[in-house]
Amino acid sequence: MHELAIAQSIFEAVETRATECKAIRVKGVRLKIGEASGIVADSLAFCFEMLTSLDPMLAGAHLLVDAVPHRARCRHCDREFAIANYIAQCPACQEWSTDIVSGTELQILEMEYETA
Ligand SMILES: [Zn+2]
Repeated sequence: MHELAIAQSIFEAVETRATECKAIRVKGVRLKIGEASGIVADSLAFCFEMLTSLDPMLAGAHLLVDAVPHRARCRHCDREFAIANYIAQCPACQEWSTDIVSGTELQILEMEYETA
């Protein structure tokens, strides 16, 4: 279950940032997770909640996830298309030479917190 390790990294990043911002309580964290990142959002939220429940500053913080679709652009005809089942073949010209546009990201977008 690699979501636990990822949740741990996010937890640490949020905790560091919250301390820098002089937050007394973190209310929520918004993430961007690509469809092809291999991360199961529900498992990640579960692990995140488990970690935050032990921390006075982060206890009760909710995790919001923006799912980003896996998309590519064809180098041959410049068409952008949705990748299904990790197959990045252009549906228009059948070309395999494509660039990934989105879907592999994991990023903290924002966090909501209270200060004293
Ligand atoms: Zn094409």
